[in-house]
Amino acid sequence: MPSVEIYINGTFYPKEDAKISVYDHGLLYGDGVFEGMRSYSGRIFRLNEHLVRLYESAKAIQLTIPMTQADLGEAAKATLAHNKLVDAYIRLVITRGAGSLGLDPAKTSNPQVIIIVDHIELYPKDKYENGLDIITAATIRNHPAALNPRIKSLNYLNNILARIEGKLAGCSEALMLNHRGEVAECTGDNIFTIRHGSLFTPPIDAGILEGITRNAVIELARSIGMNVIEAAMTRHDIYVADECFLTGSAAEVIPVVKLDGRPIGDGAVGKVTKQLSEAFHRFVRQASA
Ligand code: PMP
Repeated sequence: MPSVEIYINGTFYPKEDAKISVYDHGLLYGDGVFEGMRSYSGRIFRLNEHLVRLYESAKAIQLTIPMTQADLGEAAKATLAHNKLVDAYIRLVITRGAGSLGLDPAKTSNPQVIIIVDHIELYPKDKYENGLDIITAATIRNHPAALNPRIKSLNYLNNILARIEGKLAGCSEALMLNHRGEVAECTGDNIFTIRHGSLFTPPIDAGILEGITRNAVIELARSIGMNVIEAAMTRHDIYVADECFLTGSAAEVIPVVKLDGRPIGDGAVGKVTKQLSEAFHRFVRQASA
């Protein structure tokens, strides 16, 4: 693929020249918000839902995005078209902007609006065929009263620490529990199980990001007549589940076949997981932005 051009505040820069200030509070303090989306056949899947979540995240941290939601949506489409990409990963990043040292957001100006379109491969391809082997991280998900996981902020250290634990255990993903010891989500994906034909996933108040892929999969499952239950879940529920999978814009739908060394179901990728994954891939190509 030829080198991509990055959108920063309305201008396209070659990747090598796409730069922002080292005084930007996005870099200094992780002060900012972001979105990760995918385009299929040139259309951004659930663009509006991603924009709504981005503007809500920004509102929650009192960050004013210096353009309207509609204009940012158009800018995302323009960046995709500019790079002549049709099936891509799109990252929207809004930083607090450059300022003096010190946390005070009032000492910054000019939030930076960055749009990156590129390709992403979260997990090795064979994991989609054979499923992930994951462990439970000792690092719990951020307490909602500390940094609400519903805010998709530039501060991902909580997730990165859990991901490091996973890697040290030889796994490419890790399960994160919440402050109550319940299942929350994985480091960059939401989690689902299937048991006796019903689909289970933790509710939003488990302290998770309300995934856009999660919501799409819930809709799809309901549309094919599945019973979907959003309820608190413990690791026990995963140990005894028939099937398990993760969802995310970058990951799409990826099966999980082992948690903490214990095979889930018969230890192979589940039938319903495959069915939902195929339905998801059909759905994203039909859905318009
Ligand atoms: N949880 C976390 C912590 C995430 O970072 C993400 C996005 N990568 C998700 C869940 C999945 O969200 P979505 O389906 O909206 O990409």
